[in-house]
Amino acid sequence: MTATLFIDGQWVPAASGETRTISCPADGSEVGIVSEAGTADAEAAIAAAKKAFDSRVWADTPAAERGDFLFKVAEQLTERKDEFARAEALDTGKRLVEAEIDMDDIIACFKHFAKLADQDAGRVVDAGDPSVVSKVVYEPVGVCGMITPWNFPLLQAAWKLAPALAAGNSLILKPAELTPHTGILIMDVFDKLGLPAGAANLVTGPGATAGAPLSTHPDVDLISFTGGLVTGRKIMSSASETVKKIALELGGKNPNVVFADADFDAAVDNALNAGFVDSGQVCSAGVRLIVEESIKEKFVDELVRRAESIRMGGPFDENAETGPLISAEHREKVHAYVQKGIEEGNVLRTGGHFGGEEHKDGCFYAPTVLDNVKRGDYVVTEESFGPVITVETFTTEEEAVETANDTVYGLAGAVWTSASGTAHRVSSRLRHGTIWINDYHPYLPQAEWGGFKQSGVGRELGIAGFEEYREAKHIYENTAPAVTGWFRMPNQ
Ligand code: NAD
Repeated sequence: MTATLFIDGQWVPAASGETRTISCPADGSEVGIVSEAGTADAEAAIAAAKKAFDSRVWADTPAAERGDFLFKVAEQLTERKDEFARAEALDTGKRLVEAEIDMDDIIACFKHFAKLADQDAGRVVDAGDPSVVSKVVYEPVGVCGMITPWNFPLLQAAWKLAPALAAGNSLILKPAELTPHTGILIMDVFDKLGLPAGAANLVTGPGATAGAPLSTHPDVDLISFTGGLVTGRKIMSSASETVKKIALELGGKNPNVVFADADFDAAVDNALNAGFVDSGQVCSAGVRLIVEESIKEKFVDELVRRAESIRMGGPFDENAETGPLISAEHREKVHAYVQKGIEEGNVLRTGGHFGGEEHKDGCFYAPTVLDNVKRGDYVVTEESFGPVITVETFTTEEEAVETANDTVYGLAGAVWTSASGTAHRVSSRLRHGTIWINDYHPYLPQAEWGGFKQSGVGRELGIAGFEEYREAKHIYENTAPAVTGWFRMPNQ
């Protein structure tokens, strides 16, 4: 019997008995069969998380011990790195080496929040009266629902799981239905390390049934979601009914601004990384190349030449430099997006097609460059979430900033220049949550991550990513209680 739901410390099948077969997008091979949770399972997981939270079994565990637990999780992940990386590579189709890098980031994330767990219990506030003791203490929020996407399945989950557990919450994780295996493995780690039953629960299943209750149920106090803008709006709207705390990490339409004085080779090389790593299925992908007019022809010629030599392949193909898209359905969407751009007058410089005969069983899409793009075009307004770089130009710094900010999103972006003044003026004016100067993609668990504008609400990582999972409570004690005299005594 397939029993991959982890509810109240037990591995159980879906109440309906339904299952889902997971296949690798690189070649269609079967990866595993998992339980297909529905609304009843999500509700059972919420009840287990509430019971655990109300019992205070994890919330009242000393913060230092919660931190120790997370350090032990990091140790287990290090020991089982190969098993986890393989599971992630098979579910997503990404190269094993990329999944291994993800594992290093996940381990670093658990260590970061392990360190924060007992660092800041609260503060004393000066009430201006020596007989008053006034303090602000931090407490866990309660029951946290977590919904995550398929591009970095365990990494996106880790950004939520680690701070939530560090702060003493109970939680329910609902990973993307296409990539459930590392969610199952991490619950196994929690279980074996003795996390109290109900503190962490897992439902593997679709968003509309297994995920939706997490944003509507009155017993869920916080919903943290990473995924697309359209789903994010739905979750925000349904969470408003019960006024949940909400954290949203949504998409991006991220500018990569290149000035003529930038290091040419480094800028071209990083433009490829920005747009094509993980086949562009990265929320912060630098898919909007905005290049100074005077170097545009030379820059794009070189970009196209390099893009054409990128080798596609599956997780264990050592010659591969990039993997497939997540599904045939997603590839159709990316292709339709490119076609729409061409219909609008954008010029296809390379790509725009599926992988060749050797990749016919996988969901590969060739690295694509669309030129002759201008502000307002469909391809610079909507996310493709595929390997599609668009090219716009500018002639002045002002125009570069205006173009880079001309989007409803605001997740990340980069500026390439050898002039420090230009770099800092431009980066201070870009309305995006992460700015790279002469680099693209690195992030640090110690630094906040999140979006301006419609890229999201709240922050993950850093210190703010811990605060999302804590409530501040003010406790005011009068050590010399006295009659106030505000209301007259009845006999006066
Ligand atoms: P998606 O919004 O379709 O799905 C994300 C998750 O939401 C999945 O687990 C899905 O099952 C669930 N879901 C779908 N409908 C739901 C509903 N009605 N109620 C509750 N849950 C529901 O996104 P996706 O296609 O999996 O991921 C791609 C998107 O994620 C892109 O837009 C990308 O930019 C974004 N993303 C953002 C970040 C970030 O940090 N900002 C990181 C990764 C991905």
